Amino acid sequence: MNPLIEQLIRPHYRQMAGYVSAGMEAGKHAGIIYLNANENPYELPGLEGCNRYPEPQPPALLTAYAQTYEVEEGNIVMTRGADEAIVVLTRLFCEPGEDSVLICPPTFGMYAVNAHGMPVEVVEVPLQPSSNSFALDTSGVIQQARERACKLVYLCSPNNPTGNSLPREDMQRICRELSGTSMVVVDETYIEFAQQHSMSSDLETHPNLVVLRTLSKSYSMAGMRMGCLLCGDTDLVHTIRSKCLDAYPLPRASIDAALRALSPAVRELAQQNINKLLAERERMHAVFSDNPLVRTVYASDANFLLLNMDRAGEFVAYCREHALVLRDFSSKPQTRNCIRVSIGTVEQNDIMCRLLADFTTRHR
Ligand SMILES: *Cc1c(COP(=O)(O)O)cnc(C)c1O
Repeated sequence: MNPLIEQLIRPHYRQMAGYVSAGMEAGKHAGIIYLNANENPYELPGLEGCNRYPEPQPPALLTAYAQTYEVEEGNIVMTRGADEAIVVLTRLFCEPGEDSVLICPPTFGMYAVNAHGMPVEVVEVPLQPSSNSFALDTSGVIQQARERACKLVYLCSPNNPTGNSLPREDMQRICRELSGTSMVVVDETYIEFAQQHSMSSDLETHPNLVVLRTLSKSYSMAGMRMGCLLCGDTDLVHTIRSKCLDAYPLPRASIDAALRALSPAVRELAQQNINKLLAERERMHAVFSDNPLVRTVYASDANFLLLNMDRAGEFVAYCREHALVLRDFSSKPQTRNCIRVSIGTVEQNDIMCRLLADFTTRHR
């Protein structure tokens, strides 16, 4: 492993032996009798194949991920959603009571939740709100990460809940200047909805870069919990697979679903759906921008819009009474008066527009 990465890992993880499951040792081949994993030999009706443990990192799925994300198979750890990748990184790099992570709020909540669970400290370098976006404080991130020796620096691009992408050159600079100090975790959960290209093409250049990807949003697979982390150091990939993951992390049904979602025909459909959502994002942006209660519609590269509006909390409650649920960020310090609206189908968005129009008539 690259020594600059290895010295960031918690000491006991460097020494401990990894787990080798029965499935990893023997695989599963037709025509062979497997009495090595204490599986039940009887299948139940409608549940054929369920009696056998799934492969820990199925080769066919690894190939599909590698093609989809344009990296080598040795650069991928497949996880239960991007969420599990965050769990695993926190556990591998953060020594409880000693280390810290850095986040740029307002951002995705699970980075801090995992850190607090260790517990390790969470250093905040807020995004800087401008007229219609939130800017990364690149120098602040570098300075704070160095000063506090933050093990993980989370950059969410496009960022949830603000919607903006972070500038590529700034993320590259952060990777470069924090080499040997921090792992830089770029969460690209929403990148399929953005113009900007994935940071995965920088994995070779920056061994301390980790990219998170998921099938949850762009491939309509949130219920199946399938995602991955990508990194340039194949030894780090191997360490995570053998020492940090569960013995059989990926459920069989989720593996099968992911193979289907990433098949050429279904990928084509998923891309068409993304295109529909992008058209609707544009339409909804215009609708919200024209509304007198709405002060700001933030520019979004994701499948949601963040709005700053008068009576934000009241509007969320009004929608809830009419069977439509929004995410209320209006009481959080960095998103005062803000709500997040996911982009739905044309019909769902029409209902949303009608509710906003009715609410506006009552309250202006
Ligand atoms: C939804 C979301 C996730 C979770 O992704 P899963 O793959 O479903 O675990 C991770 N990061 C961000 C920024 C998200 O918004």
